[in-house]
Amino acid sequence: MNGPIVGIDLGTTNSLVAVAGWPNPTDPPRVLADNAGSALMPSVVRFDDGGAVVVGSPARSSGPAHTGRIVASVKRLMGRSLADAGPDLPFLPFEVVAGEGDTARVRLPGAGGRNVTPQEVSAHILRALKERASSALGVPVERAVVTVPAYFDDAQRQATRDAARLAGLDAVRLVAEPTAAALAYGLGTRPQGPQNIVVYDLGGGTFDVSILRITPGSGEAGSGKLAADAFEVLATHGDTRLGGDDFDHAVVTWIVARALDANPQLPPPDAQSIGRLKALAERAKVELSSSESSAIDVGASLGGAWGSVPALTLARADLDGLIAPLVDRTIASCRRALRDAQRQMNGEPISAVILVGGATRTPLVRERVGQVFGLAPYTAIDPDQAVALGAAVQASIIGGGAGTAQALLLDVVPLSLGIETANGAFAKIIVRNAPIPAAGHEMFSTQVDGQTSVKLHVLQGEREMVADCRSLGEFHLRGIPPMPAGIPQLRVDFAVDANGLLTVSALERRSGKRLSVQIVPHHGLSRDEVERIERESFANALSDMSRHRIADLLANSRLDLLWINRQLTRAGGLVSAPQRAAIERGAAALQAFIDLAAADGGGAGVDPDAFHAAKEALDRASVPLHEASIKQSLAGETGAGGAGTAGGAGGTGTAGR
Ligand code: ADP
Ligand code: MG
Repeated sequence: MNGPIVGIDLGTTNSLVAVAGWPNPTDPPRVLADNAGSALMPSVVRFDDGGAVVVGSPARSSGPAHTGRIVASVKRLMGRSLADAGPDLPFLPFEVVAGEGDTARVRLPGAGGRNVTPQEVSAHILRALKERASSALGVPVERAVVTVPAYFDDAQRQATRDAARLAGLDAVRLVAEPTAAALAYGLGTRPQGPQNIVVYDLGGGTFDVSILRITPGSGEAGSGKLAADAFEVLATHGDTRLGGDDFDHAVVTWIVARALDANPQLPPPDAQSIGRLKALAERAKVELSSSESSAIDVGASLGGAWGSVPALTLARADLDGLIAPLVDRTIASCRRALRDAQRQMNGEPISAVILVGGATRTPLVRERVGQVFGLAPYTAIDPDQAVALGAAVQASIIGGGAGTAQALLLDVVPLSLGIETANGAFAKIIVRNAPIPAAGHEMFSTQVDGQTSVKLHVLQGEREMVADCRSLGEFHLRGIPPMPAGIPQLRVDFAVDANGLLTVSALERRSGKRLSVQIVPHHGLSRDEVERIERESFANALSDMSRHRIADLLANSRLDLLWINRQLTRAGGLVSAPQRAAIERGAAALQAFIDLAAADGGGAGVDPDAFHAAKEALDRASVPLHEASIKQSLAGETGAGGAGTAGGAGGTGTAGR
């Protein structure tokens, strides 16, 4: 094979493909753009009738006709079971159901209700990137270095690799995103002393900060032997539900509040208008990264009852005020990561701070990150390209590109790997941060005379008890020669390859017999167990669906209360005392549900029907207020004719998905 190896950043929001050392070995890394000149490919896939699949920008800008066929942010589901993904489900823009065993599947109600695996969805994105690269480079592209978050465990890495295989790509190496970003800046490719580097990554929906220690390898450049630089993640912190999307959200709330100031009897925005508001908010946010103020023409973009909303101006300072609490959360994570890493930093300072992810273009983010680390962050490389460019650098090293041959990257095992021992304790066989490839072994024996098989439970994590670690599967050691209990010497070997992927092998030492190690994935269990798991997944799926509903109710109820409080201040005198009391009672009842659902982080334990009923009751109680509000507006508009003010008397819309 002599085509290039490309570097791929398979992102939650956006994905990119880049190449380095191609066609000339000294060519610098560059991202490959589509025909329209855009390097970012939105990580969005649309499943059309008849098997057609649309990927990227056209999928992202699909209209409401395509509801139920569009999958975005699927990275959040990669390699995770339905139970793992539970807390994320309310935030996913698509339906999730149980697949085989306890795997999570994406359901496409708009495409005949069929289910697809997260790997398949990712494969469509990878295939589109592969095609883009093949046509940009004029040669078939079959190999790639693909990046994964530093905290991805074995199952998540395996899923990423499987997605590549489905896309007809050989993932020659999986590399941690912060490591790739450091490589893009050429860190670790020069002989220097050890360095401590911060990689701050704020994407569309996820945030993480990693502190890397790069130790130069000992090989001599030019000796033909590769020097291995070790990239060690000393600490990582973050929030998998914090990103640029939350900035957009804060701006939407601001727009709605201003629109109500201008026109208090506006009906609540419907789903389509909310989509438009989000797009407006994102555009304004992006514009404010390079200018001091942004005009938001709500009326022109939403039309209908909202057509009368005048153009608004959002200043940089306003945006800063809106997002400051969110940025503060990332800064708190930075402090924690720094504290955690301190012990291993041997008193050496942080020598560089790298910004990654589109949302780090926000000036407030740059300022605050600079302050917390006391260093001006590196911004020379486009923050949403750094990971892909670094992956391309790694790819060209693997491909044997000249000029880079002295640097071979060494990644580390992100989470310890081990086995369950007595009483649910977790015995680590390969510990976290071991440079990969890594290996370790453990000895076991039998507990019963003549026992010929032993079941072992493999886990990954840092906690002491099995219950707190992530189960990777069960392995049966079979073919143990019959011996008295405790006599067989079973040696189980763990090996993690250069991609961070685990393989297990075993040997009975007395007889020298190799034992077969059989992975028992969940669908390999007995029929009873399969049925039990299915039942449980089904029960989970039901409660996950109600979480979904609660997330919707939460968002809509907050908007309702915003409306009602405004109107009470403005037109409250126009309703009778009992009417006002009824509204206040209803509002307090709804607020109680909001607090409960919000405190509960996803709303398990909140009855969605009761929540819904509280919302409906308030809607009904506030009808007189809506009417009074409209009357007052009409009275104020002497002779204006009151055109377009008829809607909204039925109270606020109900949730529903
Ligand atoms: P991911 O790693 O999740 O795939 P990206 O790194 O592509 O995501 O970041 C996407 C986020 O970056 C979006 O929220 C987008 O609005 C935001 N973003 C892109 N450009 C800018 C900009 N100029 N200023 C502020 N935010 C931006
Ligand atoms: Mg990213």
